[in-house]
Amino acid sequence: MYANNTGQIFETGVYRPPSEGGSNSLLLRFTRNCPWNKCAFCAMYKTEKFELRPVGEIKADIDAMAAVRDELEEISQRHGSRDISREAAVEFLSRHPEYNNSQSFAILFSWLLSGGETVFLQDANTLIMKTHNLVEVLQYLRHRFPTIKRITTYGRSGTLARKKPEELDAIREAGLDRLHIGMESGDDELLKRIRKGVDSEEHIKGGRKAVDAGFEVSEYWMPGLGGEEHSESHARETARVLNEINPHYIRSRPFRPLPGTPMYDEYQEGSFRLLSPGQQLLELRMTVEGLEVTSRVCFDHAGNYWRSRGGSLLFSHDYEGYKFPERKPHVLALIEEGLQYGQQRMPEFLRL
Ligand code: SF4
Repeated sequence: MYANNTGQIFETGVYRPPSEGGSNSLLLRFTRNCPWNKCAFCAMYKTEKFELRPVGEIKADIDAMAAVRDELEEISQRHGSRDISREAAVEFLSRHPEYNNSQSFAILFSWLLSGGETVFLQDANTLIMKTHNLVEVLQYLRHRFPTIKRITTYGRSGTLARKKPEELDAIREAGLDRLHIGMESGDDELLKRIRKGVDSEEHIKGGRKAVDAGFEVSEYWMPGLGGEEHSESHARETARVLNEINPHYIRSRPFRPLPGTPMYDEYQEGSFRLLSPGQQLLELRMTVEGLEVTSRVCFDHAGNYWRSRGGSLLFSHDYEGYKFPERKPHVLALIEEGLQYGQQRMPEFLRL
């Protein structure tokens, strides 16, 4: 009854940042896959083709979600509850058994149960949509779900750099709050080598425009991405670019070659030399030393595996990380501790 042409209530994708996960976020696709799809380290969408979703199709998904919510509310109220209840889901599924194994129903119900407050728009670069289309669907989503407090998405620096400031203002005003940007490095030579499709100037331009338009900006960088050859310039230039942007969040995603990517093949052939865990920490120290920002620096991913003297994780994996410049000496002290401890071995799950 509520299904779109894929048999789901609405379309959802696979990838989202850890900080937007859990059952509290609605994962909703505005586009499919990645319009660039050439980064040499990335395995995410390699076999998939990019597609824009028509505005009418996205709105139909939003309408279907709202209709399910209305029916769940009606059942809950009949059972004497003002809020959506688990009993309502049981009755809903007995009325609509076709949703018993529906991923979209499970996501939608968990989200509504948690208050329906945060949304992550998929996939890799929502800003590639024409501005007026993106504004229209954002406004529609906010209108149909007034409980929403925060909408976030991935965006590419190059796309941000090309948008006019007034377009970014319009998108921000329509209700997009937070942007996750894959910067990876600030080193131009390395950016070319990994086929990122942007240089450091575009990273700075895109990041600054996003901050100036009022978005909360998270920039992701990959310690170790340059291997031995580019380690120093990667650290130095990454700090330089991050200083220029001064985003709200800086998130560390240590590099690890993934099967199915060109960089994995280079690693296998021996033309790319990975950093050891200790070398990665030395590079990290160089980057952190160079940071003159007021950002929160975060190690919120399992790839930040380094251990302290006592054997626990060296860095907190908290999504809010460490506030700079106040906690910079503390982070540098942690790195020193990690270097003294030795970091001989990567954990089993990260070994190649
Ligand atoms: S832009 Fe992002 S999703 Fe697309 S290929 Fe590069 S890293 Fe992967």
